[in-house]
Amino acid sequence: MEDLENREFDLVIVGAGPAGATAAIYGVRYGLKVAFFETVDPISQLTLTPFIENFPGFEGNGFDLLQKMKDQATKFGAVHKFESVEEISKEGDRFIVKSDNGVYRAKAVIIATGGKHREVGIPGEKEFAGKGVSYCATCDGNFFRGKKVAVIGGGNTAVEEAIYLKEIGCDVVLVHRRDELRADKAYQDEFFRRNIPVIWNSVPVRVEGGEVVERLVLYNRIEQKEFSIDVSAVFVAVGITPATDIVSKLGVERDERGYIKVNKKQETNVPGIFAAGDCCDNPLKQAITACGDGAVAANSAFEFIKLRFQK
Ligand code: NAP
Repeated sequence: MEDLENREFDLVIVGAGPAGATAAIYGVRYGLKVAFFETVDPISQLTLTPFIENFPGFEGNGFDLLQKMKDQATKFGAVHKFESVEEISKEGDRFIVKSDNGVYRAKAVIIATGGKHREVGIPGEKEFAGKGVSYCATCDGNFFRGKKVAVIGGGNTAVEEAIYLKEIGCDVVLVHRRDELRADKAYQDEFFRRNIPVIWNSVPVRVEGGEVVERLVLYNRIEQKEFSIDVSAVFVAVGITPATDIVSKLGVERDERGYIKVNKKQETNVPGIFAAGDCCDNPLKQAITACGDGAVAANSAFEFIKLRFQK
């Protein structure tokens, strides 16, 4: 058992993606005693990003970029805990943070929990999860080298995953519900340069197979007809939903989609609770903006602690 001192922090950060790791770097450099918590559910989207080209000063994979951030935070003295935070409550002037391994007290908390992949919600999706249905090309793509696979979605994630799967030797097809992609132009240019086929205007209907995935049934919205493609895997990349259930009991306001409402200082409506990154109602979901949010949140948490606790 750790002693009480090791459970008392100025600032607890829930999440260790780009927002959480940056908040940890800034918080600890303001002289705060900081702990940042990491769990695999949800895992940072950045970890799963196969290549990063739009983070100034860095080109490479997301895992390496995030590892550098976390190493930088711990180098300056932030405590990195691989524990799942299950509840946050208020007791007097402290927040009580309960994880699956203990109870911690903090003067301020930054929520940087990011988002979870969204399910497409079709028959077969759950049944074949881990048997050909996947939400992470970098995690599972290797199993399908040389095989035909489908990626569902038209955003940055879907396009990146399709490019990655093609690069590692999959026979990949992208399935999109409209006739134009949502992904940034730079990703689209990369995508089309590789001649990856696209099935346009088609929505997924169900996943079929025996022990493992064998085909994806689709519905063409223009021709109004169902058809199927034989595939060994279906990679679902239809967006993320914010992982913000943790703040419900605290009375933190969220928008209708579940994103935490923050102001320009990354303050929530609950004094002492700040939020940063993809779990917030910010307009752009990027590693670089998550880092910016994390820095601002740490600064606001520092100001809050200075005002409330050091008279
Ligand atoms: P997204 O941008 O929300 O795109 C989701 C895609 O899935 C859209 O094309 C959408 O179609 C489609 N879709 C949604 N529901 C669907 C359904 N039920 N059936 C079929 N298709 C469906 O999600 P994302 O690509 O995961 O990206 C999430 C955020 O992270 C974005 O802000 C993105 O810019 C960011 N991101 C950035 C990078 C990067 O910069 N390196 C990489 C990955 C993600 P419609 O287009 O018709 O709506």
